Amino acid sequence: MRLDKFICKSTTLTRVEATHVINAGNVIVNGNVIESESTQVHENNTITLNGEKLISRSSRYIMMHKPLNTICSNVDEVYPSLFNYIDIENASEMHIAGRLDADTTGLVLVTDDGRWSFNIITPNKKCEKVYRVGLRDSITDDVALKFKKGVQLQGEEKLTLPAKLEIVNPKEVLLTITEGKYHQVKRMFSAVGNRVVSLHREKIGDVSLDIELGQWRYLTAGEVESF
Ligand code: URA
Repeated sequence: MRLDKFICKSTTLTRVEATHVINAGNVIVNGNVIESESTQVHENNTITLNGEKLISRSSRYIMMHKPLNTICSNVDEVYPSLFNYIDIENASEMHIAGRLDADTTGLVLVTDDGRWSFNIITPNKKCEKVYRVGLRDSITDDVALKFKKGVQLQGEEKLTLPAKLEIVNPKEVLLTITEGKYHQVKRMFSAVGNRVVSLHREKIGDVSLDIELGQWRYLTAGEVESF
């Protein structure tokens, strides 16, 4: 495909903006600066823009900052779907690597690459998810050890996998877990007699949320390859 088309597919730049960065000498294809926007390139070529490797959007990888009262499904139900916020072609054909509840905010990864999202979701890969949790009752000293050992969730056969608890203040903690059972964080605090009053996901693996509420951006090549 043409180089300008590749840039448009792999960034948020328009065709005019893509032409501009190419003509300015900011694009390197397989080690050579290419200044002509009509140059033919292949998806396998190594293409960088301002030193950042671009990846073809035949697979797309997106970070989204999920607002309150939105749902991680492709269909609007009681609340609007998160996909309404992602203004790209065929966004609803993508899926979410680890859904959040309607009343949870924060980092959501959206893709159409099922193999990639599997690495994030499967407990076998031990991909860490960090949640900032607001609690009804002050946290007690024994909870960190209980979560480290694993707690019994109602209706589950096995204990939860070891989780890390960091106390921010008596009613706010950071919880790191490597699995994603239904309502897992809420059920873990319920299992120790407390209640979650607010929940926000800050980080998945090495990817930290760095955009405003309701915004989205493409992941960098480094972020995509980190899973
Ligand atoms: N755990 C929950 O209970 N809810 C979420 O949305 C995510 C993790």
